[in-house]
Amino acid sequence: MEHIQLLILGSGPAGYTAAIYGSRANLQCVVYEGIQPGGQLTQTTEIENFPGYPNGVQGQQMMDDFKSQAVRLGAEVRFGLATKVDFSQRPFRVEVDGKNWVEADAVIIATGATAKYLGLPSEEKFRGTGVSACATCDGFFYRKKVVAVVGGGDTACEEATYLASLCRKVYMIVRRDVLRASKAMQERVLNTPNIEVLWKHQTREILGDDMGVTGVRLVREDGSETDVAIDGFFLAIGHHPNSDLFREWVNVDAAGYIITEGKGTATNVAGVFAAGDVQDPTYRQAINAAASGCRAAMDAEKYIASIK
Ligand code: NDP
Repeated sequence: MEHIQLLILGSGPAGYTAAIYGSRANLQCVVYEGIQPGGQLTQTTEIENFPGYPNGVQGQQMMDDFKSQAVRLGAEVRFGLATKVDFSQRPFRVEVDGKNWVEADAVIIATGATAKYLGLPSEEKFRGTGVSACATCDGFFYRKKVVAVVGGGDTACEEATYLASLCRKVYMIVRRDVLRASKAMQERVLNTPNIEVLWKHQTREILGDDMGVTGVRLVREDGSETDVAIDGFFLAIGHHPNSDLFREWVNVDAAGYIITEGKGTATNVAGVFAAGDVQDPTYRQAINAAASGCRAAMDAEKYIASIK
């Protein structure tokens, strides 16, 4: 079985930063990219708040830069998905793509988080034919059309403004009478003429036919319903931490975020560390993910030195 010194699962800002720090500490680092190489940022447009890019940067470009830097410093980045883990013995064992097992002295879990859906049967039915959780990926298909975005956080505001630049009209479906998003994002939404916020509305059903989505049935606070004609329905209601594979071994909180010790990245399994959105229900920003990737590599380096 192949032996790896530091195995990093996930290729977002946390995974690549762990690889950069791990490689510079002379550890043999292998990164498995996972289901979404580059992570969530590859689905976003411009990033203006990551220090070091004074003119902003496209999400995909930034992740390409992270990867190049990790590779230049000696990390090996592989296409592949962890499908099983066995943390009961040392070295740890991880199955990749359902077939090959590798063993590792230390593991950093940096598998991020994925978009949440409302859980409506109609949402499933029209997934890919009018229902999407990524405006950046799919907005293009709705040029000059009418779409709805559900959610009131920064993601929803960002997606609504992005879609407003492409679409004729964007409805924002917000369940309360306030937006959770930062003031700057709220202002951007409220000052965009072709965005209409539907306050205190919830989605009851997505309507459609064989060709895809044609509308959405909403319910107001008083229980009354209204149908709105749309061509596309975008979800922006938060994320689910990608910790399912590890829950047999590592402790998670009620929402599934991996619990790490104090300011460090240690999990309850010595030698297994967690970094980025999979362990961060609060800050969930690329800069925080990168910082925790750095901490995870430093923690792993200490651990590996201790078992030599
Ligand atoms: P949030 O958890 O911040 O917001 C989720 C939104 O979806 C809330 O408005 C919530 O409503 C709503 N919601 C949740 N469940 C439902 C439901 N079942 N039906 C209807 N609405 C629902 O998630 P985000 O993805 O927006 O943001 C995550 C983190 O990332 C935040 O910390 C955010 O600040 C950050 N972020 C920052 C960006 C930036 O700085 N450029 C860009 C994008 C995200 P309610 O408010 O009522 O709970």
